[in-house]
Amino acid sequence: MLVVDDDPSSRAIVVLWLSEAGLRTREASSGEEALAAVAAAHDDIDVILLDVMMPGADGFEVLRRIKGEPRSSLIPIVFLSASAGDAHVVRGFKAGAVDYLQKPISGPILVTKVQAVVERGRAERALEDKLRSAEENATHDMLTGLANRRDFEHRLAEMVANSVRHREPLALLMIDIDKFKSINDELGHPIGDEALKHLGAKLLGVTRAGDRAFRYGGEEFVLLLQKCDRVGAVAIFDRLGESLRVTPLEIEGGKRVPFSVSGGISSMEADNGFRPENMVGRADSELYVAKRGGRDRVAVEGSGTLAEGTSAVGQRAPRGQEP
Ligand code: GH3
Ligand code: MG
Ligand code: MG
Repeated sequence: MLVVDDDPSSRAIVVLWLSEAGLRTREASSGEEALAAVAAAHDDIDVILLDVMMPGADGFEVLRRIKGEPRSSLIPIVFLSASAGDAHVVRGFKAGAVDYLQKPISGPILVTKVQAVVERGRAERALEDKLRSAEENATHDMLTGLANRRDFEHRLAEMVANSVRHREPLALLMIDIDKFKSINDELGHPIGDEALKHLGAKLLGVTRAGDRAFRYGGEEFVLLLQKCDRVGAVAIFDRLGESLRVTPLEIEGGKRVPFSVSGGISSMEADNGFRPENMVGRADSELYVAKRGGRDRVAVEGSGTLAEGTSAVGQRAPRGQEP
């Protein structure tokens, strides 16, 4: 609590009542001192008890300046004043005070009101935290921490529009873990979850600022690659594959759980007229081609390309490997 009053005895009695109720207080003897205290410790002040009539900056002026500063604008302010007129009380509430107590003030009423304001502030902050985490849950996958499919739909629309507007390429890389079911079956679902987290972290490791990684579904992930064409997307897939080979998932006891991924790429770029429609479906068809071609590889739309291991666009899978 910050108690602001130019009259030392009024201040002392308020501080005494609040302290007896177990509330921590600090004091300011002028409007200017109050503003300095708020600027220095806005996070640490739950309520301001503010005298209206003070030499220099009066209560209304102090309130206006505290409300005008984003970092302190939400601190509740209770006016304490000897000026009883209705007009003053109305002006106080209109300015944004949460309460207006007239002097002489009753100790029990002051304490009860301040406690109610503190409680309300706590409840509001708890609600805000909940709202924030609900928002986070709505757009993020709990397991991997990556953005989820719902967020993906928004970002895709945004990035496609951007690509068209600036005539800059955009690539969509869809990634699916190979034989993931057997990891679950042989090592258990929790290890399967570890594999998903491991891949999630790798995806963030291979992308640049401005790119975005999503958990699209169970063991399917999507990268949206800004200013990136098919060739660039293949390079990113290769980096991912390399990274998974060099540092595979390690579980308890140092046991390695290697797994590979397959990828499908669609793109918007000059040579397809920045074709925007059905980016997901197009990448998904390519992913199917990569799976059919033997997995641990990426397929790229338009080129009939299958690149295995360290890939290069234009390289075809050996015929024998096709199903
Ligand atoms: P393919 O190489 O053809 O992709 O084979 P696959 O086994 O990876 O694919 P399939 O679609 O047959 O199996 C996917 C499995 O992913 C089945 C499902 O139980 C599992 N899965 C989906 N979500 C989760 C999850 O959150 N945690 C775990 N542990 N498993 C999951
Ligand atoms: Mg799979
Ligand atoms: Mg799958």
